[in-house]
Amino acid sequence: MTPPQKSTKIVVTIGPATETEEVIEQLILAGMNVARFNTKHGTPEWHHDRIMRVKAVAQRLNTPVAILIDLQGPEIRIQTPGEQPVEIVEDEHITFSVTQSGDEKTIIIPQEVIDAEQEGNTLIIDDGLGEFVIVGKESDALIVEAKNTCSIGHRKSLNTPGVVINMPPLVAQDYVHLDAATNDIVEFVGLSFVRNAQDVHNLREELKKRNLDADVVAKIENQAALDNLDEIVKAADVVMIARGDLGVEVPYEELTHWQKTIVTLCREQAKPVITATQMLKSMVNFPYPSRAEVSDVANAVYDGTDAVMLSDETTIGKYPVKAVAAQAKIVAYNEQFAKPPAILSPDIDVSHWVTHAASMLLKTSSDPSKSLVINRVVCFSETGATAKQLMRFRQIREIDVVTDSQLTYNQLSIVYGVRPWMMSLENENLSNTDSVVSQLTNLGIVKSGEVVLLIHGSHWKQPGLTNVLKIVTIP
Ligand code: PEP
Repeated sequence: MTPPQKSTKIVVTIGPATETEEVIEQLILAGMNVARFNTKHGTPEWHHDRIMRVKAVAQRLNTPVAILIDLQGPEIRIQTPGEQPVEIVEDEHITFSVTQSGDEKTIIIPQEVIDAEQEGNTLIIDDGLGEFVIVGKESDALIVEAKNTCSIGHRKSLNTPGVVINMPPLVAQDYVHLDAATNDIVEFVGLSFVRNAQDVHNLREELKKRNLDADVVAKIENQAALDNLDEIVKAADVVMIARGDLGVEVPYEELTHWQKTIVTLCREQAKPVITATQMLKSMVNFPYPSRAEVSDVANAVYDGTDAVMLSDETTIGKYPVKAVAAQAKIVAYNEQFAKPPAILSPDIDVSHWVTHAASMLLKTSSDPSKSLVINRVVCFSETGATAKQLMRFRQIREIDVVTDSQLTYNQLSIVYGVRPWMMSLENENLSNTDSVVSQLTNLGIVKSGEVVLLIHGSHWKQPGLTNVLKIVTIP
């Protein structure tokens, strides 16, 4: 299998179904660009071992694959008596308490939830498997009425639609995972249940204390995040539309509206965005996606997402490689036709005016009635910002980005259309076009006869000073 030609990136959550080097290799060959480790499950040692496997296979295949460590954050998990499933019947009244009362159906929840909730509110367990309405409140317990018959498992998630729970943005276990992270193996850190920009700043501080250069992925998954969307997108490096939780934290009929709003906002601010969860859920058990799922993956491309994600499909699913291959096929086919909505009010940093000009030029070049034909776009970038600024306009479907930063090389794995290349640029004089072109030719990035748009700064190593656009015909 060879990796498909596609621009939309694929984030694959690694779990028991995908933990061996053999399967990891198949995932990469099927189109995985980012391996996600959900620290809600597994020890730091478990994750570290599998991360090393991903890195080893990626190196062997000479392919960039970024690692995303997804922290649990203030996600609420319930506990059941004796860690056994609790069978609940519709209309039954049960107790959600901070302590076990001896009642075989008492479910343990944190005190903070009890403090924040009131009668009449709804609580959701396990992504909607169980729905409960609060009918009574005591200082350390909530009495709830079950709205449906269900079996509730130990450590399942608890959602509190519309109610902000006063919990710290990171839990003890998150610090353990951060302490275990190092720059050579972690490119992204995911922040669950982000509520405001301060939560993002707080994680950045924790990264800084540990000298970690990872980018922060803000996961939008509740009403508080939607209320503060603009400031969160500005503060974050990457955004994830975490539809699993978002779809129960807000009425599900709102989900599509929010997905499109978040993608647009991210494109305006040149922040890569991941559309996540239940994209090919039926492939947990079946080798073929449902038609609605095919449409969901394709529509994310039409929205202008940078990446699509797989969770249960690849952690516990029966067909993890087929699921990645299916996503790759769907995005690759639809990218040919997708014209994501124009960005009406892009944030343009003054240091990126050249990138904006390049986008205008590429718009002209894509018009068959004009004689300007550009076959390839190559940029030199220390941080990857030029590629993010340019690709959000979707005038082109691929860009070659040359960098000498290993971190940037891997982090660009999440950006739509970017093919990253590593090259030592320490002594490179970018104003010597002949030398640059011969290097690009030697690396196989450009071919004789191609008309190439080069984008770079006049002074390498000065991020934010991209100020040169050159159209070169390769000799
Ligand atoms: C989600 O809720 O969609 C999500 C990605 O979060 P997690 O899998 O970490 O619960």
